[in-house]
Amino acid sequence: MFPPTEAAATADQRLRAFLDDNAPTTPCLVVDLATVRENFRSLRAELPGADVLYAVKANPAPEVVAALVAEGSGFDVASTGEVELCLAQGADPSSLSYGNPIKKASDIARAHAAGVRRFTFDSDGDLENLAEHAPGARVACRFLVDAPASGTPFGAKFGCAPEMAARLLRRAAGLGLSVDGAAFHVGSQHTDPAAWVAGIRQAAELGVPMRALNIGGGFPTGYRDPAPPLSEHAAAIRGALAEHFPTPPALVVEPGRAVVATAGVIRTEVVLVSRKSDADEHRWVYLDVGRYSGLAETENEYIAYRLRTAHPGGGDGPVVIAGPTCDGDDVVYQRTPYRLPLALRAGDLVDILDAGAYTASYSSVSFNGFPPLPTLVVG
Ligand SMILES: *Cc1c(COP(=O)(O)O)cnc(C)c1O
Repeated sequence: MFPPTEAAATADQRLRAFLDDNAPTTPCLVVDLATVRENFRSLRAELPGADVLYAVKANPAPEVVAALVAEGSGFDVASTGEVELCLAQGADPSSLSYGNPIKKASDIARAHAAGVRRFTFDSDGDLENLAEHAPGARVACRFLVDAPASGTPFGAKFGCAPEMAARLLRRAAGLGLSVDGAAFHVGSQHTDPAAWVAGIRQAAELGVPMRALNIGGGFPTGYRDPAPPLSEHAAAIRGALAEHFPTPPALVVEPGRAVVATAGVIRTEVVLVSRKSDADEHRWVYLDVGRYSGLAETENEYIAYRLRTAHPGGGDGPVVIAGPTCDGDDVVYQRTPYRLPLALRAGDLVDILDAGAYTASYSSVSFNGFPPLPTLVVG
């Protein structure tokens, strides 16, 4: 683990003080807006001149969106709901890019009517709908990157083969759309800068005019396992652009996680500590938050969050960590080895760190009667 920066330590103190002073009902997510701003500014500084579009799905709290509007961020939106959210928080429609290649013709028409003029597509069908319902709009075609998978891979759902992307981009120009160029996303929580390098090389090899290149998001956060710093990714990206493009295209990035993850802490309470047999060394620790109330990214145990518990410093032992619902899949960590204090009891508090991304936005409305994870905001 990299030692926390001074800024991270201060943000953590602010979040902790807020939680301890206010003792909100658990579970809840608290987001520090100062950290959101800092993360956004770091991205700007590492990729100067890049058009930064915050991927709203990572954390759609209105206060987060408003803070980023004030910073001059653009937004990667994926639905009518996200378009309306950003506009309600003061975003200019020209700063929105509709990045979801899976959309209804009616979604395109509504976005266009609201003033959205940038779209990403990856199919003939969506391209035809764009030509009809967003005439003249700026478009990018998403292709599938040929790079190792990320920590939370997208699989093959988005993007088309590079040769097809080249054909679709030529077709887009013929349909009267304003062609920006190519787009790719290496998958979220990608720790290997080589993935972006591969994408940039593939984009150059498409052999189509490239006014702008959208390299997506995917920039990682250090959870229990460390992640390379943003500077490493940025250097690789700048190097690959210079190497593969005689005239580098305008750069577009769509960070989600990297803007909000470190800004959030989930405070949760232990519901029960038990064992499955008297001989079993493992204790089962059931928290009041689980797979359906914010910890969706623990599916396949992809993301292993850092935990902070009561009784630090005493003895500890191995645990399985699970959520509170009557669902067999609501087990958070079973294969990932976690150890928690032996003194841990029902009613003790457990903080889940760096939980500002893909948590509240993923929680269910009220599965099994457990309400969605509320978001509180500091700063
Ligand atoms: C989810 C998403 C992002 C953000 O990805 P992160 O890994 O959170 O940075 C960016 N662009 C698109 C199109 C996405 O779907």
